[in-house]
Amino acid sequence: MKELIIPPVQLTFITTNKCTASCQNCCFQCNPGNNNKLTLSEMKQYIDQSLEVYNTIKLLILTGGECFTLGKDMNCIIKYASSKGLYIRVVTNGYWATSFDKAYKILHELAGAGLTEINFSTGDEHQMWIPYDNIVYGIMAALELNLAVAINVESSKLSQFNINQLKYDVRLEKYKSLFDKKLLIFGGVWMPFIKSTEEKLNTTSIYNKNEKSPLILHHQKGRCASLFNTISIDPFHQMVACCGLTVSYIPYLRLGSVKKYSLHFLYEYQFHDFIKIWLFTEGPEKILQFCRKKLNLPSIDTTKWHICQICVEIFRDKQNLSILRQNYGDLFPNVMLKYTLLREKYFKIINFTSYEK
Ligand code: SF4
Ligand code: SF4
Repeated sequence: MKELIIPPVQLTFITTNKCTASCQNCCFQCNPGNNNKLTLSEMKQYIDQSLEVYNTIKLLILTGGECFTLGKDMNCIIKYASSKGLYIRVVTNGYWATSFDKAYKILHELAGAGLTEINFSTGDEHQMWIPYDNIVYGIMAALELNLAVAINVESSKLSQFNINQLKYDVRLEKYKSLFDKKLLIFGGVWMPFIKSTEEKLNTTSIYNKNEKSPLILHHQKGRCASLFNTISIDPFHQMVACCGLTVSYIPYLRLGSVKKYSLHFLYEYQFHDFIKIWLFTEGPEKILQFCRKKLNLPSIDTTKWHICQICVEIFRDKQNLSILRQNYGDLFPNVMLKYTLLREKYFKIINFTSYEK
């Protein structure tokens, strides 16, 4: 069993499901009325427990919901993680960055505590709640403080706001030399979680009218590289196998309660699971089409789908799971051979020297 494990390199806290915004298609349905969160002492405990077993972990990610609603607890956990030698990334909608001065003051304090990286999310739905200017002030302040910055712009065929508006914002002109080095701007696929958005997307052509060019769909037919690298804990103390957009809709990806079982046990137990290994090795598209073929059903055209949507499709249908159970023996040798080779590659690329294989 030990020979199948890939140790984690990141620890992610989905710190809270509270958010200052209520984006219609938020994958976790966060809003200001939600109050579930991890407390400071719980987060400290989870950091200690993780590092005790895996000194391969180098990065702590604080996300949500909106992790800035944790207030001083966030400063404290950043300081704590930094004292343990971790890099720290926060993911935010930037609601607190109402002016350059305010953003600078807040980030100056966090950088002093040990923050190394900040990710902002923006786009049409976010901007219904958080002004775009906040993002610009946040970027400017973070760059002045030498933090690494990444901006995730919601992207879909329906998007009015796009990455070019940010790239060519005159206020960011003076930071041009930092683009693609300290500042990354990318369009993350905005997935529909409500029916009306899904219907609109289905009836809109592939051309994004703002960009006058075919929208690049960030769809991968390949393997899911989001598995097996992170210990992720949600505000309900559940460890989840990935932070994919649809993870809360797939019970199968919930690994169990960290209140009940040790982090170590929950993380490693997933390597007993052939389907997760197959997802990691060959990806959900291959699995879905395999099931369809075995069920004598036509293959589904997933060209316009996000990779995590394909995952939902596999797990929402019990027939798929029973097909996988029935054919597990035939699939096993080939998939496991590929997995073993892939794992070897990981061990070569990432320095796991301190981890005993
Ligand atoms: S800002 Fe992010 S976490 Fe908050 S509601 Fe919108 S998508 Fe969800
Ligand atoms: S493809 Fe599936 S396993 Fe991978 S990140 Fe998306 S939901 Fe998670």
